[in-house]
Amino acid sequence: MDTLFHALVGAFIGECAPKSIKNRRIKGALASMSPDLLNIPCYLYLGFKTDSTLWYPKPEAFYENPWILDHWTWAGWNLSHSLFFWALIILPLVWRLKWTPLLGIAYLSHILLDLPSHSGIWSVQPLWPYNWLLHGWFDAWAWNLQEILMYSTLPAFCWLLMYQLRTREWILWPSEREPSALK
Ligand SMILES: [Zn+2]
Repeated sequence: MDTLFHALVGAFIGECAPKSIKNRRIKGALASMSPDLLNIPCYLYLGFKTDSTLWYPKPEAFYENPWILDHWTWAGWNLSHSLFFWALIILPLVWRLKWTPLLGIAYLSHILLDLPSHSGIWSVQPLWPYNWLLHGWFDAWAWNLQEILMYSTLPAFCWLLMYQLRTREWILWPSEREPSALK
């Protein structure tokens, strides 16, 4: 999916998390966006090679230059979108540094959402370094601004709905209820 969609899903996950977690929505949004950080070298390199404005290539530049898939900068994207990386690096890091599990969950949401939204040769390799492409159905990463804004209303609505529901007693975590309500 696109970055805005990931951020809103992360904020939604943060909204679902216990209120005792400080800045839980921001933490959810940042963790959900973070797998694409390793994509920056690849964007800059392709942007440089294709003379793109500010070295930021448009989706067409990727379609016209499929050789980028074999360039080392693309490996960063494969690495950060691998379930092995999540299980062997991210989860132990979250556990070791005593960070909130929210970060690990939000990170995983990014990988899971990217599976259906990258198709053909641009598909995710969830078991990377094993070269097994899990073919998605559409290419959300190539959406234009209008599509990004249109589809982002879905997670935004879910977030807003959860925000409203969290004010009700029955959808709160036990630790968030009044002591009297636990009796
Ligand atoms: Zn991604």
